[in-house]
Amino acid sequence: MTGEKIKLPRKVQHIIEALESGGYEAYAVGGCIRDSLLGRKPQDWDITTSAKPEEVKKIFKRTVDTGIQHGTVTVLLENEGFEVTTYRIDGKYEDGRHPKEVVFTPNLKEDLKRRDFTVNAMAYSEKEGLIDLFDGAGDLERGRIRCVGDAKERFREDALRMMRAVRFGAQLGFSIEENTKKAIRALASSLSKISAERIQMELVKLLVSDNPQEVRTLYETGLTTVFLPEFDAMMATEQNNPHHKYTVGEHTIVSLTHVRGEKVLRLAMLFHDVAKPVCITRDEEGIHHFHGHPGVGSEMTRKILRRLKFDNDTVQRVCALVAGHDDNPPATLRNVRRAMVRIGPGAFPHIFEVKRADILAQSSFKQQEKLEYLKEFESCYREITESRQCLSIKELAVNGRDLMEIGIPAGPGLGEVLSHLLDLVIEEPEKNTREYLLHTAKEYSIL
Ligand code: ATP
Ligand code: MG
Repeated sequence: MTGEKIKLPRKVQHIIEALESGGYEAYAVGGCIRDSLLGRKPQDWDITTSAKPEEVKKIFKRTVDTGIQHGTVTVLLENEGFEVTTYRIDGKYEDGRHPKEVVFTPNLKEDLKRRDFTVNAMAYSEKEGLIDLFDGAGDLERGRIRCVGDAKERFREDALRMMRAVRFGAQLGFSIEENTKKAIRALASSLSKISAERIQMELVKLLVSDNPQEVRTLYETGLTTVFLPEFDAMMATEQNNPHHKYTVGEHTIVSLTHVRGEKVLRLAMLFHDVAKPVCITRDEEGIHHFHGHPGVGSEMTRKILRRLKFDNDTVQRVCALVAGHDDNPPATLRNVRRAMVRIGPGAFPHIFEVKRADILAQSSFKQQEKLEYLKEFESCYREITESRQCLSIKELAVNGRDLMEIGIPAGPGLGEVLSHLLDLVIEEPEKNTREYLLHTAKEYSIL
């Protein structure tokens, strides 16, 4: 593999040439070179240069000091930003996560050496071609994630790299080279030094990748033990039950591969059975049951997602899906309306995808019936949305002002009346008329 597949965007080419004209070296580097060689579209183009930040700022009209203490300046060209970073050596890592200091270097080789994996440590410019000092191109061809230099040393410097190794493996469909993997196994416990926010970012990238089943590698290397011991418990829980053919953990992994690569969906699958290890019971025949696991699981999921510093909206939506994943009421319009209100209209359509993935990861026992039922459930949903049936207080044929006009005082009591009206309308949509609701509201408020 050589550089011939790399076509630098016009603006990147412009930045490199401007730096070269100033007497400096400059290259596109890292992820963009890796992705170009793989024929994938790079997310962003990073540039590495021998010019110091102050020198970069002199060459370009519009720049932003994004991370000047680390040598990064963003160059703005027609509203597009490009990160230009000075060649640097990361100083000593004393805490396993941040270099104590950053030292600039005039030497490209030193800059490439500090990078995490061989596939991420290549640079390219039109003038010099591909600079590949650690056989990154060979590893791309072999489909292999390998540390630059001694793997243990690199993970001791920065423990997050262990998560990154597994994440890149999942994104690229690569395996982790044996030595690198061994080093992760040996040092997994040091991931505890890394902040929850950074672990969360890597976990999400892995989950939404084409290979979410790679959470298995997080487990096998001992990384989940550190940040998600609940997953280890799932891996250790058998399901002796006709509906299942895998352990809870394996079922979870297979279910991940059956939903779209969307964050909330993948998280919902990861956690849908998280409470099974604590809810397990065994009957006289030795069959396992997991009564109550969706409700308990939703609460566990809330705690886990908060611990991993997920935002409230994500927590809310994932928990609603976990709570509802095993609801199987008879497929009637009324039941589906109730479920939509419970789960929230925004998250509701996701429940079908969650349930389908769950079924597909179970045994073949009654699988066709389960899928048929799901179809009926979904067609009720479609009918409800198409006929625009009322599912929220906003959609009632009366509002708070109408109720005040007939003498119901403002305050919490008013909200209570509106909720009551909504309950009635959810049960029987034809009751959503002004006349009926005003009449009922009056009676209800007198009571
Ligand atoms: P993507 O942006 O698609 O996730 P990327 O390779 O661009 O992938 P970034 O996290 O944006 O990854 O980092 C850019 C480059 O910086 C990497 O390619 C790698 O060379 C280097 N790098 C990033 N994080 C680390 C780290 N923790 N240790 C060593 N090098 C790193
Ligand atoms: Mg990047």
